[in-house]
Amino acid sequence: MPQLSEFFDSNRTGHMTAAVFVGLAISGFGVVKSNHMLVMSGCVVPVWEFLATMDMDHEARTIRGPIWRRCWLTYWWPYKMLVPHRSEFSHSLLVGTPIRLVYVFLPFILIEIATSPFTSSELLEFAASNPALAWDWLWGWIQEWRWLVAGAVVADLVHLLKDGYLRYGLGGILFGR
Ligand SMILES: [Zn+2]
Repeated sequence: MPQLSEFFDSNRTGHMTAAVFVGLAISGFGVVKSNHMLVMSGCVVPVWEFLATMDMDHEARTIRGPIWRRCWLTYWWPYKMLVPHRSEFSHSLLVGTPIRLVYVFLPFILIEIATSPFTSSELLEFAASNPALAWDWLWGWIQEWRWLVAGAVVADLVHLLKDGYLRYGLGGILFGR
């Protein structure tokens, strides 16, 4: 039986409780405003905290649970090995969130590169010599998936606030400690 305080702590239960409440509030506001983007973003908040939390390094320490969860945690094994707990590479909005967005979509990005008529070095060269076009492409992607990106950002912001990062100021929230 969990203690009531667990739902407010900066532990797994506390983080999930906060994400569910914030997600419900955003989705509820989206329903009132008939804004389906807000409804979807609100749904993403608890899902993102559950599946791609800033503490994934911690989560992936023990591979257990149903088979889908064990597969998912195994997928995060390299992340766990590379990212120190609560480092700026996980606990920051401008570094940690983009890293996990790329990590989640990595298989799709790799398939995209593999099936493209260009090699990955040609694509990188093209991006380096045409930064404006590369940015346009990235911005187009962000626009298309903005409901998901926004949900991920809100989930991570709630996580950072619960972890007490506000004491490091805006810089702490954006770039980590
Ligand atoms: Zn954390």
